[in-house]
Amino acid sequence: MDNCIFCKIANKEIPGKIIYEDDICVAFLDLSQTTNGHTLVIPKKHFKNFLEVDNDTLAHMIKVTKDIANKIVTKLNANGVNILTNANEVAGQTVMHFHLHIIPRYDNNDQIEINFSDRSNEVNLDSLFNQIME
Ligand code: 5GP
Ligand code: ZN
Repeated sequence: MDNCIFCKIANKEIPGKIIYEDDICVAFLDLSQTTNGHTLVIPKKHFKNFLEVDNDTLAHMIKVTKDIANKIVTKLNANGVNILTNANEVAGQTVMHFHLHIIPRYDNNDQIEINFSDRSNEVNLDSLFNQIME
């Protein structure tokens, strides 16, 4: 897609530190390096985000992501990893070409904080369940 920075990286029109590539996807180091080894896995074909990506492409990418995550964890001596994706601006998506983040974790003081706050006493689980299931 014209003017998409990740299409340009996939097409080698602009440089990226590509650590994996096949016919369907590419993985390269994220410029921000939130933690050491922070990597993005993207499809070569342009899809906006997780909500829109083709299922076969996604299935392939998640397997590739597992292998790359294991390689990074081993090579960089990480203790764990977060795999995450942001869909749409409200969720923090800034580049509108689908990507999976691989964020290696080293210890509790590394540079990313993910906090699932407990709102269980504020919400009605039954009504949410019914809204989703109706
Ligand atoms: P999002 O916020 O959309 O989930 O993540 C976009 C990510 O792309 C950010 O972590 C940002 O650092 C990274 N990024 C943006 N532009 C470039 C670029 O030109 N090259 C690389 N390697 N990463 C980029
Ligand atoms: Zn694109």
